[in-house]
Amino acid sequence: MKILLVEDERKIREWVAKALRESGFVVDPVGDGNDAYDLLKTRSYDGAVLDIMLPGRDGLSLLRSIRREGINLPVLVLSARGEWDERVEGLNLGADDYLPKPFHVDELVARLRAVCRRSKGDQLNLVEAGPVRMNVATREVSVGGNALELTAREFSLLEMLVRSPGRVFTRTQILDRVWDYDFDPQTNLVDVYVKRLRQHLGEENRDWIDTVRGVGYRFKG
Ligand code: CA
Repeated sequence: MKILLVEDERKIREWVAKALRESGFVVDPVGDGNDAYDLLKTRSYDGAVLDIMLPGRDGLSLLRSIRREGINLPVLVLSARGEWDERVEGLNLGADDYLPKPFHVDELVARLRAVCRRSKGDQLNLVEAGPVRMNVATREVSVGGNALELTAREFSLLEMLVRSPGRVFTRTQILDRVWDYDFDPQTNLVDVYVKRLRQHLGEENRDWIDTVRGVGYRFKG
């Protein structure tokens, strides 16, 4: 995991960078808000540690700018103890967590891990292929931006196909994964559900679910 560390006090920056590296993070340390902004615009990070008082551009205005521009990496904000207004402002601007100075570096590492994990968790909940977008946490599904109402079983079947575009699943594999009880191998349950899913997808998108003759089904990749 690659982290941008923005802190102008050299001692703190070096100490935090060292601790993060020892914990397995890759770290780009910078001491200036404008440099940090340029890096966030041009490189890809898994998270950032952001001090508030910085030369060039302060941490909160930096945070406001990147959120406005749709840069959604997890951000842990650092600030001097007791600056509660800044804390509230930071969280309102889209900080994922806040740590008052002075802090224990172990706590910083633990908090940073937590915000990065939460952010990855959100990404894992999103399943997308072709025109289909699914959020497995909220059970929302849309096709070409239009929301669909699916039953739990329909959702599971579509999720299985959409998670692995291009991969062919046999009827037995589908039954095994989507219907977790003993079934009659002669059942046409899978075909019935695929037909329903195609109806949900509509005329325009029904062909995204491909019948592989004599084998099973796949979502086009
Ligand atoms: Ca500072």
